[in-house]
Amino acid sequence: MGGGFSGLAAALALGRAGWDVRLVEARDRVGGRTLTRWLPDGTQLDLGAQWLGPTQDRMYALVAEYGLTTFPSAALGAPVLRWGGGLHPEPPEPTGRVLARLDALAARLDPAAPWLAAEAPEWDRLPLSGWLADAAGDPAGARYLGRLLAGGLLATGPDEISLLQILFYLRSGGGSALLLRMAGGAQQDRVVGGPAALAELMAQRLAATVGPGALRLGAPVTVIAQDAGGVLVRTDRDAYPADAVVVAVAPALAGRIRYDPPLPALRDGLTQRMPMGSAVKVHALYPEPFWRADGLSGVGTSATGPVTETVDNGTPDSTRGVLTAFSYGDEARDLRRMSPDARRAAVLDALVAMVGPDAARPDGFVEHDWSADPYTRGCFCGVLTPGSWRGYGPALRPPVGRVHWAGTETAVGWTGYLEGAVRAGERAAAEVTAGTSGYR
Ligand SMILES: Cc1cc2nc3c(=O)[nH]c(=O)nc-3n(C[C@H](O)[C@H](O)[C@H](O)COP(=O)(O)OP(=O)(O)OC[C@H]3O[C@@H](n4cnc5c(N)ncnc54)[C@H](O)[C@@H]3O)c2cc1C
Repeated sequence: MGGGFSGLAAALALGRAGWDVRLVEARDRVGGRTLTRWLPDGTQLDLGAQWLGPTQDRMYALVAEYGLTTFPSAALGAPVLRWGGGLHPEPPEPTGRVLARLDALAARLDPAAPWLAAEAPEWDRLPLSGWLADAAGDPAGARYLGRLLAGGLLATGPDEISLLQILFYLRSGGGSALLLRMAGGAQQDRVVGGPAALAELMAQRLAATVGPGALRLGAPVTVIAQDAGGVLVRTDRDAYPADAVVVAVAPALAGRIRYDPPLPALRDGLTQRMPMGSAVKVHALYPEPFWRADGLSGVGTSATGPVTETVDNGTPDSTRGVLTAFSYGDEARDLRRMSPDARRAAVLDALVAMVGPDAARPDGFVEHDWSADPYTRGCFCGVLTPGSWRGYGPALRPPVGRVHWAGTETAVGWTGYLEGAVRAGERAAAEVTAGTSGYR
């Protein structure tokens, strides 16, 4: 169940292995946390996930397999970094040193079991903000790094996550350079047509190979019951008897399903301690990408104000200006409390501070709040609260009888990303095929 990339990858893998699969999806579309909107002039706006980067091999392979292509992110000039009360071309001094130290600590973790590291109990208790205050050695550096790491990577605040959580995330994605870079990193490429187009093609292939009834849209799963004879997956209208079920949704959504018998306490506890991140992503549209003429890339990181990150979200040769702003954690929650007009004004003020006064006059402003969407509940992904890894991390992946867990949150590599979603879906499918619960 769950027709995002993880559920699609699981269903296709099971279909290839000869299983008679049903993919049951709550919404009337597949793709989950991906959604593309088109402007009348053909400009592609990816309202959810958008980037791919090196080592995300399954995603690049799927793009090629389904006949799609990628284009490089536009980052055509100098970045703007806002910290310590001013604009700079470089991050504050401690940044390189602190990132290297985090990478070194992360290398001590097994990304499949971060809770087993000798220091895990201590790192799990320590808020990232507290560790950064010591490691950075100056408040401006700590503040910048907190917004860059907790915000840019996990869409939270540095008080909301533990040192262990960020170390796990760094390890899972292959280190800070891979995670943070545009070219050479996770923000390198975009999919022509958007990742949502790839999800649609995967769904079409599932229907073509397994049969037209393989995909059930508009069908939120409400109950999963299992006994020695099988599992029964119920929606409000239908019931699907099966040998096994792959639950390919984030733990915060899995926790809304009723299980019979109830989940073991630790797996249920996990769903209570892994809230979704809090990101607001908005697109400000301009007749032209005016910042490029000023030698700016549109790529920015800010340690102050409501917007933490900006990117030029046009194509490298686009004549339309698309400046995308990201707000995270408390700043995102502050924006949500505002009226639409006040939110727009606050975001545009922040863009003016980053790329100049022309940013005040967009001819379009597109926002999509994933936190208000009942089948996503926030983004980019679920994040364990401080102190929870040690007790509840071990419950992330082990199946509960005939119930297998997928979704990007359960990925060992590239957790939180599309790549992690696909890997997790294929891993769960392999578990089912191997009959790890003894039903085959
Ligand atoms: C704004 C934003 C920006 C992002 N940027 C990037 C990026 O640039 N690169 C990247 O790699 N990743 C990015 N991500 C993260 C990426 O989108 C996710 O990691 C990925 O899409 C997760 O896939 P999934 O299949 O695990 O979960 P989902 O995509 O959430 O899929 C779960 C599916 O289950 C369905 N569902 C939920 N509850 C039920 C139910 N009860 N019954 C049936 N179905 C149900 C949902 O409708 C959904 O379709 C971003 C996410 C967002 C929102």
